[in-house]
Amino acid sequence: MRILVIEDETKVGCFIKRALEEESYAVDLCEDGAKGLQMALITDYDVLIVDLMLPSLPGLEILKGVRQARIQTPILILTAQSQVDQRVKGLDAGADDYLTKPFAIDELLARIRALLRRGSTESPGVLQIDDLALNPATREVTRGGQRIDLTSKEYALLEYLMRHTGRVLTRPMISEHVWNQDFDTFTNVIDVYVNYLRNKIDRGHSKKLIHTIRGSGYMLKVD
Ligand code: CA
Repeated sequence: MRILVIEDETKVGCFIKRALEEESYAVDLCEDGAKGLQMALITDYDVLIVDLMLPSLPGLEILKGVRQARIQTPILILTAQSQVDQRVKGLDAGADDYLTKPFAIDELLARIRALLRRGSTESPGVLQIDDLALNPATREVTRGGQRIDLTSKEYALLEYLMRHTGRVLTRPMISEHVWNQDFDTFTNVIDVYVNYLRNKIDRGHSKKLIHTIRGSGYMLKVD
């Protein structure tokens, strides 16, 4: 899952980015309002975190620009204690949630999980396909009740596949949602990671869940 953080306070922005990356999210950080809106319009993010007071374009205008472009990505706004009216305006302009600074990072993470749940109506807290289960809150992955240890990127890739079970996911889609803007699309990194994941998820099981769709990409499904 890929998140855009638009926050001009470098310290706060870097703190959020680091905390999200520890949870295996791919994160782009932008410190400028107008540039942040451009990024939100170009890339298919899974969540946007938007500060209200920003240079060049205020957060409210970013919200409006995104919603005017009919982009339904969940948006969480960050506000200062004193900005009650701004918070209301933010929610009215299409924000899904808000958090008042200073905030506890655990609360931010819980709110992001809630927004991701809301994004896909059919997915409950724990993602499940056949005997494979992934719990976004604890980041625990099991198959047939057996715990599977994944690296951060393997986990991020599996979460993306599981949130889109039964759909063909192309390499550009995977790179857009699992890696950040520093990712070099001309490498075979995605195939390498899918193979790592196969070894941990499917090896030794007669029922394979990760499928290669020739000429297209990958799909998670029960055969
Ligand atoms: Ca600010």
